[in-house]
Parts: sequence; structure tokens; C-alpha cells
Amino acid sequence: MNATANANLFSRLFDGIDDPTRLAIETLDGQHISYGDLIGRAGQMANVLVGRGVKPGDRVAAQTEKSVSGLVLYLATVRAGAIYLPLNTAYTLNELDYFIGDAEPKVVVCDPLKAAGISTIAAKVKAKVETLGADGRGSLTEAADQAGKEFATIIRGNDDLAAILYTSGTTGRSKGAMLSHDNLAANSLTLVDYWRFTDKDVLIHALPIYHTHGLFVASNVTLFARASMIFLPKFDPDLIIRLMARATVLMGVPTFYTRLLQNPALNRESASHMRLFVSGSAPLLADTHREWTERTGHDVLERYGMTETNMNTSNPYDGERVAGAVGHALPGVTVRVTDPETGKVLAPETIGMIEVKGSNVFKGYWRMPEKTKSEFRDDGFFITGDLGKIDDNGYVHILGRGKDLVISGGFNVYPKEIESEIDAMPGVIESAVIGVPHADFGEGVTAVVVCHPTAKIDEGTILKGLDGRLAKFKMPKRVFVVGELPRNTMGKVQKNILRDKYKDIYAKG
Ligand code: AMP
Repeated sequence: MNATANANLFSRLFDGIDDPTRLAIETLDGQHISYGDLIGRAGQMANVLVGRGVKPGDRVAAQTEKSVSGLVLYLATVRAGAIYLPLNTAYTLNELDYFIGDAEPKVVVCDPLKAAGISTIAAKVKAKVETLGADGRGSLTEAADQAGKEFATIIRGNDDLAAILYTSGTTGRSKGAMLSHDNLAANSLTLVDYWRFTDKDVLIHALPIYHTHGLFVASNVTLFARASMIFLPKFDPDLIIRLMARATVLMGVPTFYTRLLQNPALNRESASHMRLFVSGSAPLLADTHREWTERTGHDVLERYGMTETNMNTSNPYDGERVAGAVGHALPGVTVRVTDPETGKVLAPETIGMIEVKGSNVFKGYWRMPEKTKSEFRDDGFFITGDLGKIDDNGYVHILGRGKDLVISGGFNVYPKEIESEIDAMPGVIESAVIGVPHADFGEGVTAVVVCHPTAKIDEGTILKGLDGRLAKFKMPKRVFVVGELPRNTMGKVQKNILRDKYKDIYAKG
């Protein structure tokens, strides 16, 4: 096999690069890292990893704050033919014990502040520990600085693994989604095309890099396009609005957009240099989409993906970006909606289980062959667990996770339908509809609502507003007005926390 045929994602990203002096990454503290620098640094770090005994197929786990060195670690791991395993910085030692025990990495990279606790866990699987702090320094970079930049990228096949990402696991144990070199490369190349990325683009990178959105979508797409990114340690609305003056693309979760809209500096002028705003990882409220268009003159482009599948659908670049819809299946991806029980394919506009197939879809769950088998159909479609429909124009609509479906009195209630009605009421910011145990109905439809601070809204107002707009069985039995909804770092509303909080409200006696 010659070098150009190497399916290693690193080779596909960088082999034959025409201009290594081109800017790849800039940081707030004034670093300007060219493509050549990035390749050299990845070479140095790959040499360190190999020196620590990392072989093709070994796992390298990382729980580190966001830094360029953290991104280099990902590239170096892939380059060395090993499997990158990023871990959410919020995970506690107890959770890390599970992930590290399950994945048995050869090396664990962590923040120097956490090294003591993590070393005990790593020792159980005989993993070596290296440190990397928020400033990008630690034992790993110290060793890398001394290592050679040359490294012969390890040859890998399309189906060999490049990464394992653990799913958030709100029900049951987290599962390690195994992603191959081709899964990642194929999906990124599709997105470069679909979103018209070029080497003129400048991405504002404000997402974490332990999740598919910031790690693969944002970083890989930028690097494949030979574009550059401004690497921010965290989301900062004032700074982002200032950076828009010289950037072209922002990728964000919906909370980025709602928070940017709260900033008076956001307007047509401040957004005039931008060409694309992408949203995903959680539903963007139709209201947010419309408000964004009014304020900036740009329609947010919403897309839908998940850890296991990379990106599945996207609103079009040129055509209509429909508020509340996640767009069409991407080229090379097939999306269908089926009856969750029988697997029978359903007609357009019918709600069912979303299933996907394509080169984007993962290779299964790490060390969980039974779980993997049960989540794929015999014809290779992955059962996403998301309920939704495909409309007559081919746009996919997500109605929520299957596990969030409410079954009340034997009827299916799709939370999104009720949430949309509530969200459309004046004074309401957003809502979450959940099912909680109910002695008569099995589950009682329950709404948790966030209102504008000045709005005078209570349970009675919401119920009155819904009266006559929803079938009786869909009507919430109780409505709670709260200050905010619980969210994880990717902006997803944590309905499991709400279900737990309100679990006793319909208890008899
Ligand atoms: P994760 O694996 O953390 O990326 O979460 C994937 C899940 O996020 C999907 O299965 C969907 O339930 C949800 N999701 C991602 N993008 C969207 C979107 N644009 N609209 C609604 N839900 C989304």
C-alpha cells in the first residue's frame, strides 16, 4: 500500500498538503499555528505515544481542558494508528473508573490537578499517565518538545478504529461508540462540500473537543478544507460577536444562539462578515431560528447528528432552511422512518423511529456485541432512538428521543408537539414536556415552562392557552413554571433530571 492509499484519517487530512505555511489555528494568547506546525507537533506527540508503548489499536484516553495541545493529542493518536478516547471534563473519578476500566487504554492523559486520583484508576489497567493542563503544558508536551517531528503515519484500513466516544448514557451505562477512520473522513468531506467550506473560511471554534460536534464536525471539517479556526477555550458571547468581524463560520449548540441573541451587540452589521451559522446537538427552537434571521439577516443552518453516526441530515446551503426541521439526508446517508415495533418503513409525514445507514454510521459499541446487534436492523440500518418524521418535501423533523415519549392512558404523546404549542405563547421562552408516573394514566403529561421574567404566567395561564388547541389526552395535567431547565454542556435539556424531580406529583394518597 502506498502512502496516498493509507486510509488513516491523518493521512487523508494532511498527505500532499500544498502549502504547509497556511494558518490552521490561532488562539487568544496570540499563537498562530500553521498546517506545517500542526503536522510537526502531531509527529512529536505520536513519537511520545509510541515511546510509551502505544501500538496500533491501543486506546489513548484523555480528560483535559480544551487546548491546541489537546487537539494535537487527538491527531497524534490517530496518526500512531491508535484509538482516541476523549472524556468529558465533567466526569468524576467514579465515572472515570468505569470508562478507563472498560476501555483499558495504554495511556491516560489528564489535567495535572487530577493526576493523583486518575493515577490510581489507571494503575488498575496498567495504563501510563501523562498530564496536560488548560495552558497546553504538562508532562506530555514537555516530552513532545524533546521528540522528533518526523513520524511515518501508521497505515490503517477504512474500518480500523480511529476513536471511541462514550455516549452520554442518561439511561443505563454509557456505551463506547466505535468510529472508524472512514466514518470520520467520509462524513467530514461530505460536510466540507455541503456547507461550501473553502480555504478562505475562518471558523470560530467555541465548542468542547471531547464531543463529536467540536472534535469531528468543527475541527475535521476546517482542516479538510484547509481553512483556519480561532480556538476559544469556552463560549464567550461578547468575544464571539467581536470575532465575527473577521470570521466566516460559527458552529454552535442552540444555547449559543439564545445567549448571543441576548447580547445587544448582535445585529446585521456585527454579523455581516459571516457566511454561515450552524446549529446542532440539541433542538433549536423555531423562535430562536426566526429571531436570529430578523436580527442578523442569516438563517441558522440546523443539522442533526449523534455520537454513533456523525452527521446524518442538514438543512440546505442554498435552499430553504426550515425552522424546527433538521433538513435532508446528507449525500451518502440514507434516512428512513419506521414503525418502532415492526421495523416497517412508514410513509412520509408519519411519525416513527428514525433509522440511518451510510459510511457515517459507527462500527458498534465497544465490547457490547449484544447491544450493538439489537440496535441495528438486519439490512444494516442503525436505530437511532430518535422519533421523528420525514415531510413531503424530504425534510426530517425530530420529535425527541424515544425514551422521552409519553404514554398516557395508552396514547402516545410526542413532547415536541406540546412544547411547540407552549413555546408559541406570548411570554414563554421555552418548555420541556415529560411523562411521570400516574396511577390512572400510567404516565401523566407534565410541562415545565420557562417564562420571561416580566411575564405574568402561571399554570392556569398555560392550561387556558392550550385549551382547544390540543386533544384532551395530550393536555398537561400539571404545569410548573421554573427559572431554567437543566441542561448538559452540549445544551441538551436533561429530561431524566426533570422526571426524577417530579416523579411523585401524581402519587395517590
Ligand atoms: P450526542 O450523541 O450527544 O451528539 O446526542 C445525539 C442526540 O442529540 C440525537 O440522537 C438527537 O436526539 C439530539 N440532536 C442532535 N442534533 C439535533 C437537532 N438538530 N435537533 C434535535 N435533536 C438533535
